[in-house]
Amino acid sequence: MEHFYTLQGEGFHQGRAAYFIRLGGCDVGCVWCDVKDSWDAGKHPLWKIDDIVAEVEKSATKLVVITGGEPLMHDLTNLTNALKAKGFETNIETSGAHPLSGAWDWICLSPKKFKAPLPEILPLANELKVVIFNKSDFDWAEEYAAKVSPSCKLYLQPEWDKASIVTPLIIDYIKAHPQWELSLQIHKYINVP
Ligand code: SF4
Repeated sequence: MEHFYTLQGEGFHQGRAAYFIRLGGCDVGCVWCDVKDSWDAGKHPLWKIDDIVAEVEKSATKLVVITGGEPLMHDLTNLTNALKAKGFETNIETSGAHPLSGAWDWICLSPKKFKAPLPEILPLANELKVVIFNKSDFDWAEEYAAKVSPSCKLYLQPEWDKASIVTPLIIDYIKAHPQWELSLQIHKYINVP
């Protein structure tokens, strides 16, 4: 769908220079999705792996983030192998709703209520990032926190349009449950893609 060089705005790698590859296609259907244009993969041009890797190589970073859409609707084996062959660190942002493919240095699992993650990805997640839209999402976040590995980083992130309402709730929740950390979409605050 698009590719761009920016700063990672969310989660564990927040603040790092990263090259984003956003793949078209998503069947998860989050009502608050901020990239609905990604849903129909057919609306976006196909790229050759060598060509996209050449674009990534023009940047100064070694960190590549594959996102979507739901990137795991595609077999990512060849793309990640090509990136790794060039020495790139491969991170994925996924809902986990499709089978895992690809070679990853970091898996950020962001489960969605609209289409549950497949159970096999849960122990593999390096980071669990739960978007908080309303109060009931805290209990839902805990359900997944109980299923990921003990070393998995835990993040709560306010849904952007609800941020003024839910961020104070998240702050209180983290103070009471300090195993969680706050993830803000800082790219939206600093106006970068
Ligand atoms: S999984 Fe991501 S791209 Fe898909 S609908 Fe939800 S927020 Fe949008």
